Amino acid sequence: MTTVGVLLETAGRERRVALTPDGAARLRKQDVEVLVEAGAGRRAWFEDAGYSGAGCEVVPRLRVYAESDILVCLHPPEDVASCRPGQLLVGLLGPLGDPGLAQRLATAGVTAVSLDLLPRTLSRAQAMDALTSQANVAGYKAALLAAEAYPGFFPMLMTAAGTTRPAQVLVLGAGVAGLQAIATARRLGAQVTGYDVREAARADLASTGAAVLELSTPSAEAGGGYARELTADEAGAQSRGLAGAVPRFDVVITTAQVPGGRAPLLVTADALAGMRPGSVVIDLASTESGGNVEGSVPDTRTVTDQGVTVIGAANLASTVPAAASTAYARNVLALLALLMPRGEVVLDLDDEIQRAVVISHGGRVVQPRVRALLEESKEIRS
Ligand code: NAD
Repeated sequence: MTTVGVLLETAGRERRVALTPDGAARLRKQDVEVLVEAGAGRRAWFEDAGYSGAGCEVVPRLRVYAESDILVCLHPPEDVASCRPGQLLVGLLGPLGDPGLAQRLATAGVTAVSLDLLPRTLSRAQAMDALTSQANVAGYKAALLAAEAYPGFFPMLMTAAGTTRPAQVLVLGAGVAGLQAIATARRLGAQVTGYDVREAARADLASTGAAVLELSTPSAEAGGGYARELTADEAGAQSRGLAGAVPRFDVVITTAQVPGGRAPLLVTADALAGMRPGSVVIDLASTESGGNVEGSVPDTRTVTDQGVTVIGAANLASTVPAAASTAYARNVLALLALLMPRGEVVLDLDDEIQRAVVISHGGRVVQPRVRALLEESKEIRS
């Protein structure tokens, strides 16, 4: 019988869990054993008793490592070296940002599966699309966070004391998170404008009912629904265009990413300096090495000298932990159904989805993009 183990997330402020009691109950119905580390779901309000009630065994971390055939997580665990040879590790492992981890897992004989490499446009992959499920949660929360930090109302309110104008919200990047931020800000009554470098995203924007900000930059598609990195000239023109537009808004939410590349800088210090005091900027792309907004710091709220609140919101999905964990657990279950067609793991690297998400197997890094990155880093070192 196969045993699935659920680990408590070790990353800083992470509150999500990779499998909920409901998800575990579905595995139990298929005669899969589920071991859950004590406290794994507590920060998402899924108590140990809920897992026990669903037929799981709640055990210490070492037993999860020792007795599971499959380990499920969100981030790579900090004690990932505790994985056993032959074990399968499923998570958002970020191998394009850290190909060395894939190499270490391969050397340890671990079969690692990373949901962030899923071919998202395949319709049969959609139920496994954890990037989409988590970006949806993040976009929703970004609009709420902006409304909370903004010192005015989002909607137009007509009261005996007068009428307030609706907040003007600009959303930069109209992928999954951006479109959800737009929908949520509109539900709160704000007047919303969106912008993206991809022509296809401009059509998505128009369908949300948001106004579309037009800049004179060319469409920058990279295939697969993603944007490419702009050239220095294009980025300069975009930055100047945005510096002119941004100060007209009360709230700016940025969500722009380029897969495998650096997040583009969209809101410069000059643009921030032009905004009115009390304005709010939320940067979903914020990282230690920069994001979409100059000076944004992950998980930190700063106020500029001009009175603009800048919030670096690197991992907003974790702040809506029950909904985000529930969605992630469904993604994991859909993936496990693919990997375990008859209750046991049977890998098929000829399958398009498995070929994309399995990063290490049989002692080797097998994912072509990750292998290419490792080769490149060897060449750079030698
Ligand atoms: P993402 O997180 O990689 O990027 C977010 C957005 O930032 C993208 O829309 C991108 O075009 C934009 N962006 C990048 N550089 C920019 C710049 N310099 N200026 C302005 N915007 C910039 O993207 P995502 O949310 O993961 O999704 C990307 C696309 O893939 C979307 O169109 C989405 O609908 C599509 N998608 C399709 C499926 C499917 O077919 N089932 C599933 C998931 C995503």
